Amino acid sequence: MEALRLRHAGGDQTLAAREALRHFDAMDRLARSQIRGFVAQARLTRFPLASLDDHDLVALVRQSIRDGHVVAIEKGGEGGQATDSTAEQRSLVREIEKQTRGRLSFSGRQYRLVADVDLARLPDRNSFEVVGHDDAARVLDGLAKQSGAVGELAKLLETAREKLTAEWRSPFTQPDGLILVRRIIAHAATNPADGLAMTPSQMKDFLAKKKKVVSIAWMAAEAWCSEDAAIEGKTQNYATGESIEVTFQERGGSQHQAMTGRVSSDSFNAHWTVKDILPVKQGGHLAPDLKMDATAAGVTSPKPLAVKFITHLSKVAHVRDRTHFELSLTDSVILIGSDIKYVKGWGGEVVKLRDKAPAGTGGLLDGQLVWPGYRWMKNVGLGKKFWNGTAWQSLPVGFVLADSNNFAVGFYQQGTSFTCQYGGTWPENFTDWSIDTDDKKRIIAAWTNNIETTWTGVFDLKRKECKSSNKRCCRYSTKAAVAFSNQATFSTGMLIIADGNIRSNDSLLFLGESRIAVAAHEFGHHLGNPDEYKDAAVDTSLNSDGATNGIDPDSIMGKNLTKVKARHFREICKVFTDAVTNAFGKSYNYLVVPP
Ligand SMILES: [Zn+2]
Ligand SMILES: [Zn+2]
Repeated sequence: MEALRLRHAGGDQTLAAREALRHFDAMDRLARSQIRGFVAQARLTRFPLASLDDHDLVALVRQSIRDGHVVAIEKGGEGGQATDSTAEQRSLVREIEKQTRGRLSFSGRQYRLVADVDLARLPDRNSFEVVGHDDAARVLDGLAKQSGAVGELAKLLETAREKLTAEWRSPFTQPDGLILVRRIIAHAATNPADGLAMTPSQMKDFLAKKKKVVSIAWMAAEAWCSEDAAIEGKTQNYATGESIEVTFQERGGSQHQAMTGRVSSDSFNAHWTVKDILPVKQGGHLAPDLKMDATAAGVTSPKPLAVKFITHLSKVAHVRDRTHFELSLTDSVILIGSDIKYVKGWGGEVVKLRDKAPAGTGGLLDGQLVWPGYRWMKNVGLGKKFWNGTAWQSLPVGFVLADSNNFAVGFYQQGTSFTCQYGGTWPENFTDWSIDTDDKKRIIAAWTNNIETTWTGVFDLKRKECKSSNKRCCRYSTKAAVAFSNQATFSTGMLIIADGNIRSNDSLLFLGESRIAVAAHEFGHHLGNPDEYKDAAVDTSLNSDGATNGIDPDSIMGKNLTKVKARHFREICKVFTDAVTNAFGKSYNYLVVPP
């Protein structure tokens, strides 16, 4: 059946453009072979036909049908019975045009309403752009308001609004209802009639209405985990509201993600939240950044986005009162270090007798020792005696020793005298001893090991704001590394290691201490943690994770010298947070979490 013939525009109009296209596409090979002749005869292009292949010609005719330059008529006359819907639309358009004298203007722009089937043959079609459904509805609402609520025009406009076509995507779907078009302000010089202004490839693209991403670019040079990185791009021949897939690919690596951007007026943007991108090794260490390229429809951003990571922190020495440790970050491991400087020494005790000492009793160390009210004390036989300034005396009747009224202090040798680490001089000479024997060295090595195993890998620090689902992101494990180093001379804050055993504390360790965990406990003090046992200087504000008013027996800082708890990392967490701020200018929050 010879279904169709094509004629130059301006004559009879019978078939709607979509009908014409359907017939055109259904044409057999023979009919198609005549296209070249038809195009030449109809002078559809001023472009030399020899430069167009058959495919170009088909595209040209299809475009001309869509534009209304070419219309199809059915053999045998003026068929193409208009449907009821088309008739309704046309009459509504005519009525509105009559009422507005053909000028539909809103917010300084010119509009026209057109029935779906008439779009292709709208005069001066190239000077108009189709307005999307939602915008069109807004414009018609606005126009109705402008024209006055009671007028007939307002009613017509409201009806037109109801009859607006849904969004469509040529050639996959077709409009079905009224279409609002808007006059284009700056008309691009891409009319095929101006053929000379176009290169052959531009013309090809134009004819085929080929969708094209013209450019894509990152709006910032760098971004960190959980920050937004914006992408902007320009497009051709994409409809407003159409989606574009943007992919993010690690340059030289395997990490990739994708998201969808929306086109609006030949441009699109996408806000990618950086997450689940992990640092990669480079030269044996995690690199501080990696490059992400953004690609849409085969076009890649000229410059990559640098995704930044916190993979290194130089050593920070933290000293506050008796808290002292060093913290550094290498790759994803926080190293908590302490160079525990010590001198060989001896242990003695001090006791606070208060009013239990008879009036006039000598030996008060006020002015020598940093704390007032104390006297020297030592073991004699099975009991304890205090120094009254001239001799060792039994403790006064009625005085009871308690954790709160006596403790051990360390001494170091200075010339021929023995000086207390907190001031004052022991009233007699201590017996010399050697710290360099193998058995003593073994004990110190065991302490080192005890501290490191107790405090390594028990908790991680995790950035609170990290939005990644990969739990490794923004997460750092912790590792304790201590070294005991023997010093020639004592200075304030230094540890004293004494032979024998009285009672160890964070500044005085006894080699005879039978509880190895005491080393890890004392290191806990170095990390800023108070004791957590009765009668000690507890922090009563600690009331979680087993602690009640600062007391927790089942803790490394408590009576049983057992578990390291999350709270024991709070000073480490604070120092790390500050170090991140200082080094990277980022105010992040970190949580102490189990690995
Ligand atoms: Zn993260
Ligand atoms: Zn302690």
